[in-house]
Amino acid sequence: MGLWQTSKDREKLLKQFVLHHSVTHSDGEKTFVNLVQKTLEQLPYFKESKRIHFAHTDDNRRALIAHYEGVKNKDTIVLINHFDTVGVDDYAEYKNLAFDADKITERFKKNNAYLDPDAIEDLNSSEYLFGRGVMDMKAGLMLHISLIEKAIIEEWDINLILVTVPDEEVGSKGMLAAIEVLKTLKEEKDLNIRLHLNSEPTFQQEGSDTNHYVYSGTIGKIMPAVFVHGLETHVGNALNGISSNYIMSYINQKLEYNTEFIETYKDETTPPLVSLYMRDIKDHYDVQTPFKSVSLYNAFIFNRNAKEVFETFNHIVKEAVDDCTKVLNKQFDTGFYSNELSIPVMTYGELYKKAVHEIGKEKVDTIITRAEEKVTESHMKSVQIVDDLMATMRSMGPAVISFYTPPYYPAANSSDDLEVRLAVAEVIRSASEIGRISEEVRYFNGICDLSYVKYTTNNLSDAMYEENTPSFGRSYAIPFESIREISAPIINIGPIGKDAHKVSERLLKESAFYELPHILESVIKNCYMKNTVE
Ligand SMILES: [Zn+2]
Repeated sequence: MGLWQTSKDREKLLKQFVLHHSVTHSDGEKTFVNLVQKTLEQLPYFKESKRIHFAHTDDNRRALIAHYEGVKNKDTIVLINHFDTVGVDDYAEYKNLAFDADKITERFKKNNAYLDPDAIEDLNSSEYLFGRGVMDMKAGLMLHISLIEKAIIEEWDINLILVTVPDEEVGSKGMLAAIEVLKTLKEEKDLNIRLHLNSEPTFQQEGSDTNHYVYSGTIGKIMPAVFVHGLETHVGNALNGISSNYIMSYINQKLEYNTEFIETYKDETTPPLVSLYMRDIKDHYDVQTPFKSVSLYNAFIFNRNAKEVFETFNHIVKEAVDDCTKVLNKQFDTGFYSNELSIPVMTYGELYKKAVHEIGKEKVDTIITRAEEKVTESHMKSVQIVDDLMATMRSMGPAVISFYTPPYYPAANSSDDLEVRLAVAEVIRSASEIGRISEEVRYFNGICDLSYVKYTTNNLSDAMYEENTPSFGRSYAIPFESIREISAPIINIGPIGKDAHKVSERLLKESAFYELPHILESVIKNCYMKNTVE
């Protein structure tokens, strides 16, 4: 009974999804929703009525939102997954087999040169399915569709909303667009969203680890940045200028690995802040000293919001610039340094206001619009805006600007939520029932779209982020207000896999096709359909 209610049928469905490649920004990513729609419409429930909706990104990609409606109940669980995958360059000569789970598994059996010993052992056990997207995360989509079919067959009295999105691996544009459709649906149908359930795969801690993990939160990520504007000079007259690289070296020294950014929650700890990109912006070699440098940082967060991270960041940058000017003032008293040198440190928000004051809002906005058109990558748009604005504000002299570049994934944690506590307990119980040990982890450390469905920041922090992210409200935006509207507790319950984003990406078949359907059904039935917690 049903199309996808046996392990075999679920495996078949997953393989179909994997075969339709959908690497982020590819054409396959654009057409993938057609396959999901066609799949859902094999069920008369979705064919006969308008229960499938689409959300559009600003670059012509679509997310699909499908609504299974409860009989009377307004309680709702949102089932979230992404259908885009990372690229396949790591498969090298087997690139064209990466999306065919059967063929790539067969090929690896003949030549396992790309695999490490643990992957080879898994390959020979025949318990795993290999291929791009099998674990991250088309298995999640397969599971949600199988679950919805079951709800239709048994007429569950609860609302299930499938949200399957593109662009999760790059900028989360799919999820950010889907939020608006979800919000409309919630308002129109007067739904009570009780849970946002993602099914990203669990990341195994080490090779021999056979445990399942349920995540009651997701780690956040934010990208503070610094732009240093020095003063150019000829190398022969070094003291007539000031090298932006020299200033940046002080800043970076103080920021990278700084323990002030490390957060701890129970026994879990965030990795330290590191620079992802640091260079002077000079196109070619010449004897002019570099005078513009930029560094972008990655900060992981558990609890802090944009405002808190930025305050810590700015205070450290100021200290570093102080140290730097002290040394310069002490060492030299000729040329540029004959007057006491001081380098202002300002935020982008302050720079913007100063520029508007000096040259007018219209001119500033034109500079920003043009700057955005010069580059394509989202984070570089912010850098270009600062660069171009500073070029018109040269009279300021040397200065250091701190700002944010996209993306921002707020941290979210539901581990203290009563219903989520019960759901976690039910995952552990239902897993043990079929012989799998499941353990709770508070923060999913893979970064995921759950960051955008539980509102954890505040007005002050949101405003500060908007003001200090140069491209905000232009090429990049986070709909904080809409997130507040659809905000609900979060959980991640997904199948066991290994090596996401690697050539050895693989999915434990037993977990994905047999265990997870049982666990997900148990959680929904026993925690969300039986007891309504008021
Ligand atoms: Zn993923």
